[in-house]
Amino acid sequence: MAVIRVSRILHATTAEGPGLRTAVWFQGCSIRCKGCINPHLFSELGGFDMDPEKVVREAVGHRVEGLTFLGGEPFDQAPAAGNLARLAQQAGLGVVCFSGYLHEDLASRPDADELLNCTDLLVDGPYRADEPEANRALVGSTNQRFIHFTSRYADFDPVHTPNRLEMRIAPDGSVEMAGFLQRRELQDLSARLGTSRAWRRNTG
Ligand code: SF4
Repeated sequence: MAVIRVSRILHATTAEGPGLRTAVWFQGCSIRCKGCINPHLFSELGGFDMDPEKVVREAVGHRVEGLTFLGGEPFDQAPAAGNLARLAQQAGLGVVCFSGYLHEDLASRPDADELLNCTDLLVDGPYRADEPEANRALVGSTNQRFIHFTSRYADFDPVHTPNRLEMRIAPDGSVEMAGFLQRRELQDLSARLGTSRAWRRNTG
């Protein structure tokens, strides 16, 4: 079974979409939007391989509601990411997928079929630094769209949902963050904490 190349996996977070979730940051993004908060995820050479079955098994063990795919770019690994999404749905989990590609373009890609078919909510479109989003949670620019393929997240309202920031402090004192902040806020916070491990995109 194809492995996925990831930068990070975080179980039991409430900062990456509706409810309690397992967030999967894919490693590698060929879109490379100007101003992307996650340039460390551009290269496909970073990160590590993960077995999709193990990801789902651990997610179920953490009693999450679903998985969130973040970038990097999940559709740059569409077959493997599609397999992960299918396994997640077979286990009763929901799937939210962020992509810098437009749905219309993904729909014409045969290799994207499974990931699209096994996604409940797609958030599409590249990050555009000159079109900052001020009203909706989870997205960084106004062009990005919430596209529901199923009714699973029909109640999710990004306008009336606050962005969340989650911080986890490890026993060794290292700090990891998840959630969403605008780029400048994230940089300021990272500088104050003295950490570059600021993980949430403001992106597509
Ligand atoms: S915003 Fe998303 S699509 Fe754009 S470069 Fe960053 S990770 Fe890739």
